[in-house]
Amino acid sequence: MSFVSEKSKATPRSVIREMFAMQTGLDNLVSFALGEPDFTTPTHIIEAAAESFHRGETHYTPNAGIPALREAIARSYQERGLDYRPEEILVGAGAISVLCLACTAVLDIGDEVLLPDPGWANYQGLMMQVGAKPVPVRVSEENGFMYDVADLRAAVTPRTKLIVLNFPSNPTGGVADTENLRQIAELAKEKDLYILTDEIYHELLWTGEPYTSIASFPSMKERTIVVDGFSKKYAMTGFRLGWGAAPEEVTATMTKLVENVLSSVNEGVQWAGVAALTGDQSCVTEMLDHYRRRREIIVEGLNSIERVHCLPPKGAFYAFPNISQTGLGSREFAIRLLQETHTVVVPGVGFGQGGEGFIRISYATSEENIREGLRRIKKFVESLPG
Ligand code: PLP
Repeated sequence: MSFVSEKSKATPRSVIREMFAMQTGLDNLVSFALGEPDFTTPTHIIEAAAESFHRGETHYTPNAGIPALREAIARSYQERGLDYRPEEILVGAGAISVLCLACTAVLDIGDEVLLPDPGWANYQGLMMQVGAKPVPVRVSEENGFMYDVADLRAAVTPRTKLIVLNFPSNPTGGVADTENLRQIAELAKEKDLYILTDEIYHELLWTGEPYTSIASFPSMKERTIVVDGFSKKYAMTGFRLGWGAAPEEVTATMTKLVENVLSSVNEGVQWAGVAALTGDQSCVTEMLDHYRRRREIIVEGLNSIERVHCLPPKGAFYAFPNISQTGLGSREFAIRLLQETHTVVVPGVGFGQGGEGFIRISYATSEENIREGLRRIKKFVESLPG
C-alpha cells in the first residue's frame, strides 16, 4: 500500500510554481511568472498588525474571524449594494484557504464542478483534493474569455453541483459582462446549481464600470459563495488573509470545518485587514494607476510583435497573448524563451487545454522589466522560422 493517497498523487502541481522553480539560479532574469504585486504593503496596514501584536493579541481568535473584521467586510459589501451581514462572512488564511473550505463544505465525492478552461490551475487541484470531479468548460478568446452559456448547459449532468466563476480572470484578464452573468444565473436557478465566484481581482478592473457580482442578481445570493481577499488589492500576499461571503448555513459549516485546518487566523493580521478596509484608500488608487499604465505598455508592446496578438485584458494584472502563429506550443515557447533569453512567462496549457496557443504574462512588475521583457520576447519571436 502506498503511503501517499491516490487522490493526492492525481492532484496536479501548479505550472506557475514549476516555471518559478526553473528560473531559480538564472542571472539577468525578467520574470513575468508570479501573480504577486511588486509593491510593499502600505505602512498603515503593517502598523495595524504590529500594534495588535504589541498589545499582546497573540492568542487564538474566533473560528470565523474577529468581529471587527467581519463587520468591516460586511460593510464593504453593503457599500456596493450587496446585503451581507457579519454572520455570513468567514475570514481565512488567504482566499485559497476559503476556496478549499468552501469546496469541502459543499461538495461530496463525485460531485461535478464546471470550471473555466483556461482557468486558474488551482481550481482543478482543489476539486480533486476533495474528491470532486473537475469538468473544464472552454472559454474562448473570441468570446472575450467569458463562458458561452450553451457550453455550460451542455456540460451539466445530474452530478453537477457547482459552477466556478473567476472574473476578472487569472490567467486571461477576462471579465463577464452583465448579460453573460444574468444568463449564468438563470441556468443555475433552472438546473439547481450553486456558484463559487472567486472575486479576488474585482477591484483591478479596467472596464471603467463598477464590478458586478453574480450574487447581486435576483435570488442568487442564496446559491452563491463569494471568495475574496487582501492579497492583490492591498499587496498583502504574505499576510495570508482572505474571506468568504455566503448564506449563513454555508458560512456556519465552513466555520465548523475551519477547526480542522487553521483553527483561526492570527489576530494581528486580521487588524491589518481592518486597517486596509477602513483606512485611506489612496494607496490602492496609486497601485491601480501603475497597473493601468503597465497594462497599456504591455498590450501595445505585444500587439506590435508580428505573429503575436493580445486582447486587452479587462481586469487583473495578466496579459494572455495568443502565440499560436509562432509555430511553437505554449510550453515549448515558454521553455525556450526562458532558456534563450532568461525571460519567464507561464505556458497557457498550464491553465487547461483551452490555454494552448497562449502564454500568461503577469504585469505586476516594474515598467522597466516590462519594457526589457517585451524587447526580449520580440527578438525571440523574430528569431523563429516564419
Ligand atoms: N484566486 C485567484 C484567481 C488567484 O489568482 C489567487 C492567487 O494568485 C488566489 C485566489 C489566492 O489568493 P490568496 O493569496 O488570497 O490566497
